[in-house]
Amino acid sequence: MEVIRARVLGFCMGVRRAVELAEAELTLKAVRAMGPLIHNPRVLASLEGRGLGILDEAALPPDLGGLTVILRAHGVSPVLEKELRRRHAALVDATCPRVKKNQLKARSLEEAGFSLFIAGERRHGEVAGLRGYAPQALVVSCPEEASLAAAGLARERPAARTALIGQTTIDAEEYRRIAEAIRRYFPGLAVVDSICPATAERRDALRELCPRVDALVIAGGRSSSNTRCLLDIARSLGKPAWLVESAAEIDTAALTGPGTAGFKTVGLSAGASTPESDIAEIEAALAALPPPVEAHTCRA
Ligand code: SF4
Repeated sequence: MEVIRARVLGFCMGVRRAVELAEAELTLKAVRAMGPLIHNPRVLASLEGRGLGILDEAALPPDLGGLTVILRAHGVSPVLEKELRRRHAALVDATCPRVKKNQLKARSLEEAGFSLFIAGERRHGEVAGLRGYAPQALVVSCPEEASLAAAGLARERPAARTALIGQTTIDAEEYRRIAEAIRRYFPGLAVVDSICPATAERRDALRELCPRVDALVIAGGRSSSNTRCLLDIARSLGKPAWLVESAAEIDTAALTGPGTAGFKTVGLSAGASTPESDIAEIEAALAALPPPVEAHTCRA
């Protein structure tokens, strides 16, 4: 089967940096990550096999005794960072520079007196960390929530100066609609350009690829929201698409069985937490698939 890769796919700069920092530390000593380092079970299992442990914020040991602790690419709140230092952790900060920039921007806006809205997934680690830099901020996950939150603020403080900042991986159109919902109450809303281009690049490359292929395989962890979003995009563009974490998960029957005679080419994309080794493994397995079985038609 012919396999065509998306123009941009796989590890983004921030995730690559976090994994490389962890690998470098692991050669030296026992290391813990503050929460799962990456939303990819295979990479995580490999790092854990080499000695990486995961710390749970809700059950931090009282004294970390100088243990190396990696702050993941999503970042953490300043309160948690301070707490880790107080418990004698030796911190290695793998917070993505783009996330750090947003954290500092959120802090400066709140300190300057802005009422801040944070657009993103409420339970996502990046949003939790960002909120730690602007504790008064209102988190909104969709335009409807933004509208309700803005209406509430307008009742309490109609003259508030407002600003909006987003999770780095939020969809650009969703971010625009959230801004629009808040502007109905606060026309002067300042909108921070906080979306990371890495996410948009992978989505745009997938949209370009879709018309050139019959079906899509998205490589990556099911717990990765940007990987699941790639799957949604492929399906919304009318292509049969599957998310796989490894070559073993490829649905061979669905790709080559009777009734799938149209699948001569398959597109391959991958989320920002998928390493090249997984992509190459899945690509090779797809390329080795036999041509699709032609559906039998009786001419008698
Ligand atoms: S998606 Fe962007 S902001 Fe998030 S870790 Fe990757 S490079 Fe950093």
